Amino acid sequence: MTNQEDLAKNSSSLQTFIDDLYFKYKPLHDGVVAKYIPELAKVDSDLFAISIVSVNGEVYEVGNYQQLFTIQSISKVFAYGLALEDHGRDYILTRVGVEPTGDAFNAIVLDEQSKRPYNPMVNAGAIATTSLIKGLDPTERLNRMLEMFQKYIGRDVFVDISAFTSERTTGHRNRAMAYLMLNFGMIDKPIDEALDLYFQQCAVMVNCHDLAVMAATLANKGINPMTKQQAVSSRYIKDILSVMYTCGMYNFAGEWAYKVGIPAKSGISGGIIAVVPNKMGIAVFSPRLDTRGNSVRGVKVCEELSQHLGLHLFECSGLEVSQFRG
Ligand code: GLN
Repeated sequence: MTNQEDLAKNSSSLQTFIDDLYFKYKPLHDGVVAKYIPELAKVDSDLFAISIVSVNGEVYEVGNYQQLFTIQSISKVFAYGLALEDHGRDYILTRVGVEPTGDAFNAIVLDEQSKRPYNPMVNAGAIATTSLIKGLDPTERLNRMLEMFQKYIGRDVFVDISAFTSERTTGHRNRAMAYLMLNFGMIDKPIDEALDLYFQQCAVMVNCHDLAVMAATLANKGINPMTKQQAVSSRYIKDILSVMYTCGMYNFAGEWAYKVGIPAKSGISGGIIAVVPNKMGIAVFSPRLDTRGNSVRGVKVCEELSQHLGLHLFECSGLEVSQFRG
């Protein structure tokens, strides 16, 4: 069989595989949609989509992959990249750590010694990260954030105003965290501007296809595989993927690393992205969540994809010692 034929065969079987996963997990109704942000409670809980985009721009998808929803915590990954570009690794490390917490995503907890939030994937760390995005005023900071998302997605993006105001009026817990960090000098005034930008970044509208392109961009050294635009400097890819690997799934991150074995990030609206370096980006959208705030169907689909495609980063089977020579 030629390489071309081999590729065609594998491509069609990957599409068949995700079609089968879709129909297998469509009847799974476990979990509940997030309600603490009132706008999120209005979602159709049965929506379900799987998208895969390879670093060469091949696309495999099934279900409601064009349905828009707010990106929520998945935005933290990309905001972290922008903050790294703005300030460099050393400075960012003085403000936000890289240790998993083992706590829930919204835990009000800072590192006892350094007073830093533990990592940029939990709310406290994400608020601190976003507060560091450069810009002369809130408009410029928001525009820089949106431009960054545009490069990853390859089209114009917008903030859903209802979701933004819904979280802004009810996000007292995030506000409390911000004040705690202000007390310890981890973020600067004005707090409301930092929180607004954080709530806006969480309310950026994406669909499952977009998320797979964004994940594929991270898999592809920061270059969007569809537009070929550099969305983030390749030098920060390893920083971003490391914290996704150890902290992206909150207090499920250890089990995820053990079972699925690839960097990932979930969001409270039901999205999960997973990055297979130099190969592909995966995204699943399904709004019903488990008790840790991860999409129930999303976790199942990623577990099966990882097993079936042998994606675990520490999967060694089949490699000969000679392949490491030279
Ligand atoms: N905007 C949400 C919050 O700050 C994001 C949380 C999430 O997606 N896990 O609570």
